[in-house]
Amino acid sequence: MTIYNFSAGPAVLPKPVLQQAQSEMIDWHGSGMSVMEMSHRGKEYMSIQARAEADLRELMGIPVNYKVLFLQGGASQQFSMIPLNLLRGKLSADYVNTGEWSKKAISEAKKFSFVNVVASNTDRNCSYVPAYNEWKLDKDAAYLHYTPNETIGGVEFNWIPDTGNVPLVADMSSNILSRPVEVSKFGLIYAGAQKNIGPAGLTIVIVRDDLVGYAPSGLPTMLDYKTHSDNESMYNTPPTYGIYMAGLVFQWLKNNGGISAMEQTNISKSKLLYGAIDESNGFYVCPVNKADRSRMNVPFTLEDANLDGEFLKQADARGLLQLKGHRSVGGMRASIYNAMPLAGVQALVDFMNEFAASHG
Ligand SMILES: *Cc1c(COP(=O)(O)O)cnc(C)c1O
Repeated sequence: MTIYNFSAGPAVLPKPVLQQAQSEMIDWHGSGMSVMEMSHRGKEYMSIQARAEADLRELMGIPVNYKVLFLQGGASQQFSMIPLNLLRGKLSADYVNTGEWSKKAISEAKKFSFVNVVASNTDRNCSYVPAYNEWKLDKDAAYLHYTPNETIGGVEFNWIPDTGNVPLVADMSSNILSRPVEVSKFGLIYAGAQKNIGPAGLTIVIVRDDLVGYAPSGLPTMLDYKTHSDNESMYNTPPTYGIYMAGLVFQWLKNNGGISAMEQTNISKSKLLYGAIDESNGFYVCPVNKADRSRMNVPFTLEDANLDGEFLKQADARGLLQLKGHRSVGGMRASIYNAMPLAGVQALVDFMNEFAASHG
């Protein structure tokens, strides 16, 4: 039976990537060593990290005045590193609240800064992207932070906010590499790897170089972007195996047409799944405003929540795994990141149609 894993994260990885990692596990390219066993300062490992960075730069079109940092601590650590490094003597930062991850970023920033919440969608249960013309932007803000894809609520921006000279900061943990983005519009982009990049334990930060170097004195060395920027992410031991795996994912993306091709597949996959939900005559419901539905994380509920258990049991038996919704939302959530093939979404839709027909 073919297994399809719809986990929100850590999440599905491309099969060819796992197979390559398996074949190189014990002896990487004739080195006689596993990547896990290599010195991070040896020439073999240095070549792996350099290639990963070069491939990511090529895939995303990252301009030369941006640093790519390979860090640890998860996206959650960025919730504090961002205000600590980017306030640059200013008193306030702008935040957009679109759901659970925005809220976490906001509550962490409040420890270091005044936070101006420019817009929020909590009036309608975090189910939409607030219209830009209603945002209360502060032109003196140190930066504006937003969450382009809310992994739990399934709300995704299909546009990039215009913040003028205020640096734009984006938590792209769950939609990085899923669609082309113009990096030059951002001051800083960050993402935990375990959704759309690779295994957990690696966090990628892409930061415009003029924003680095303003940490207040006394900030712990490891929390200062300059430490990592000045040392090519090798101030201390980087998460070497995670970076190697991310590098294999970048090569897989390049071999499959890059991010534009990936976006086309992601559009097809999400259309197929939302179509099945919307055409079920209310048997399945997606609470998210149609224009703001995520291509990566698709939350839906059953009209009759008493059937949730049976739905999940039968899905499991068909090899459709990890569909249970987030504990804060309930219902179901299908995460359909880059590595989820169209065939996986088709298998899910076939099952959903059959389940609705036999229980509707
Ligand atoms: C998963 C996730 C996080 C948290 O990532 P960690 O690496 O677990 O800290 C933050 N933001 C978004 C949008 C996420 O999807």
